Amino acid sequence: MVILIFISVLVFLLGMSWGSFVNMLEYRVAVGYKIKPPLDPPLKRVAKNRSFCDWCGEKLNWYDNIPLFSWLFLKGKSRCCGNPLPYSYPLIELILGVIFVIIFWVNFENWFQIVFLMLISVFLVFSFIFDLKYMILPDFSTVILVIGAGVLLWSGYGNPPLQQHILAAVGSTLFLGVLYLITKGKGMGLGDVKLAIFIGLFLGYKVIVAYYVAFLTGAVLGGGLMLLNKVKKTTPIPFGPFLILGVVVAYWWGEKIIFWVQGFM
Ligand SMILES: [Zn+2]
Repeated sequence: MVILIFISVLVFLLGMSWGSFVNMLEYRVAVGYKIKPPLDPPLKRVAKNRSFCDWCGEKLNWYDNIPLFSWLFLKGKSRCCGNPLPYSYPLIELILGVIFVIIFWVNFENWFQIVFLMLISVFLVFSFIFDLKYMILPDFSTVILVIGAGVLLWSGYGNPPLQQHILAAVGSTLFLGVLYLITKGKGMGLGDVKLAIFIGLFLGYKVIVAYYVAFLTGAVLGGGLMLLNKVKKTTPIPFGPFLILGVVVAYWWGEKIIFWVQGFM
């Protein structure tokens, strides 16, 4: 028991380190896409220093770069220039720490499964935040997700029906692809269509639940924001975060939800 708690703490810290990696990656990839980062530090420092202050570009000490703890210790401000650091930094670190522990407990001793589910969750969180911030689902992240889902399928853990998952991937991509063509790219982007390959491959028949949740939450939240006058009808809203939310719900509760709905029919 003590060993289990000890390993869980290590897994939590590992998850938080990956959260820290995701925070860094959001920035680097934005620079790669030539998006002007919100805080605009001098770009020449990006290539030189591994970790730097978002505000003044000062190189960070290792002890100012510990996930969550540094943020708490510095009370959310940078040591060099005292400017506020975003809440999203410790939040993403904490979320990935918790996700890693859950994956570890649920898939106990299936190390292969654990490692690839962790990989998938890191890049789902990355794509979620990146799309939310910049309205882009980076291709490299989607490619990693597709490979991750493919390897899990190929490993055959839990005997996934191979044909069903491949069929779901094709159907899923066609579904969003047709919607993309009908809405002429206004409802969703090509990035969403590419992500659909992963969604189908990863979820199999549960893909239906993912889309149901994505469209429902998208409509509710989009409509709600419009009612509150937070956004205009013409304001584009990224669809990726809703898709990813749908993936999580479908992965955990998809089977139960489908079973439950069948009971009504
Ligand atoms: Zn600074």
